Amino acid sequence: MKAAELDLVLDRYEPVIGLEVHAQLKTASKIFCGCATTYGAPPNTQVCPVCLGYPGVLPVLNAGAVELAITAALALGCVVHETSLFARKHYFYPDLPKGYQISQFDRPLATGGSLAIVLDDDTEKSIGITRVHLEEDAGKSTHTGSGTLVDFNRCGTPLIEIVSEPDLRSPREAYLYLRCLKQVLEYLEVSDCNMEEGSLRCDANVSLRPVGRSEFGTKTEVKNVNSFRYVEDALMFEIERQAGLLEAGEQVVHETRLWDSGRGEARPMRSKEESHDYRYFPEPDLESLAVDAAMSEGIRSRLPEMPRVRAARLVSEHGLPAYDAEVLTATRALADYYEAAVELFNEPKEVSNWVMGEVLRLANERGQSVRLEPTPQPIAPTDLARLLENKQEGRISGSAAKEVLAIMVDEGGGDPLAIIEDRGLEQISDATALETEIEAVIEAHPDEVEAYRGGKAGLLGFFVGQVMKRTKGQANPELVNKILREKLG
Ligand code: ADP
Ligand code: ZN
Ligand code: MG
Repeated sequence: MKAAELDLVLDRYEPVIGLEVHAQLKTASKIFCGCATTYGAPPNTQVCPVCLGYPGVLPVLNAGAVELAITAALALGCVVHETSLFARKHYFYPDLPKGYQISQFDRPLATGGSLAIVLDDDTEKSIGITRVHLEEDAGKSTHTGSGTLVDFNRCGTPLIEIVSEPDLRSPREAYLYLRCLKQVLEYLEVSDCNMEEGSLRCDANVSLRPVGRSEFGTKTEVKNVNSFRYVEDALMFEIERQAGLLEAGEQVVHETRLWDSGRGEARPMRSKEESHDYRYFPEPDLESLAVDAAMSEGIRSRLPEMPRVRAARLVSEHGLPAYDAEVLTATRALADYYEAAVELFNEPKEVSNWVMGEVLRLANERGQSVRLEPTPQPIAPTDLARLLENKQEGRISGSAAKEVLAIMVDEGGGDPLAIIEDRGLEQISDATALETEIEAVIEAHPDEVEAYRGGKAGLLGFFVGQVMKRTKGQANPELVNKILREKLG
């Protein structure tokens, strides 16, 4: 379907979208046994009788996983229930050795929250969160030419499933929701949300309804949408496909489809199973999950400042432009870094410029992220602050400061003044030295001098540029301006 045709379709049909997001919780061990959850270990080295589902073994719930799940649920404004239940969800798949997954079904951990997302026109939209529940992950199958390989390391990894209400109305909104949710989970340090490593996965549900109608149409579920880039593509594909059916007077079949990013299409996987197909029943080997009010309130009181609140504070307390505040609060680590640096050098806008500019650039160049912990990257805020102080006091010029910063990053810190001396990058603030340079420039450009004196005041910049060229950018620009004006009269 061409873009114009799609526009026509979207004039007639409104997409309705709800996302089911699985996030791997950041615990050291699995949800029902002590096996490690480290990513990338050799296949089948992080397994035990419990996560391999041997008969007669007993699961023991990981309290750390429960705490992280509650943290996410509270931050999403959900009610955390004092009692919730684990249930067995039965299905057959080679990477599910028990033949069932321990999940939560009719009594989930938390329900009834919302997430405020910011749309492209800067308006806010609240997306309902139906539920947040705990479950275990399955293993991982790799299909090869000669058969299927199964790695059980991931079996029993703790997950939360976050189910949204069908409140999203376009692929773009779905993308913005996912991005916002990821940011929140990262701030909470509940999940790494690393889509490449599979620690954040998304199933997208979508249906169409004629514009103006209130009932929803039949939905399909697209699984395996495991990259931000694919969310919009996969939904757009489904919208076009469903619209084609409806236009032809056909019906959308309630089914599960698998997104194939290589081909850019969602292929049918299975007709949609109903919950009774899973033969859910309460997990007999686990007690009901009790979360008392004291525990919930304790976790609530420790919730970190959320990104949008933090951005608003940087605007009101630091006087930063909204744009800066948004960039700097993109990740909690970056915001922490910026605040640590301002603490040491109290010029918020100047620090913001350097962090958003050179510091981020140098980190990107090195494939690093800007952070404080466990070791500061790409440079310690104390070193950055030292550099900015020297620049402020005129000992280092703006252009030299960039060079010095790059050297400090390479050398893991150092004294900016020593670096400047070593490399001959000192700012020339000595008037006599500058006068000599300026006189040379004036002598070399008699025509421009005449034009300037004849009224072309704009030529001042030309002369400044020439002086900078002769001094390799080291001349103190204010002083150069002042002396030039005097000499040119
Ligand atoms: P199912 O029983 O098929 O799993 P659920 O009611 O549990 O469906 O909802 C699963 C997800 O699908 C939720 O994110 C929900 O918002 C979304 N959803 C439900 N109905 C529709 C619909 N008609 N169109 C689009 N999304 C829907
Ligand atoms: Zn185990
Ligand atoms: Mg469901």
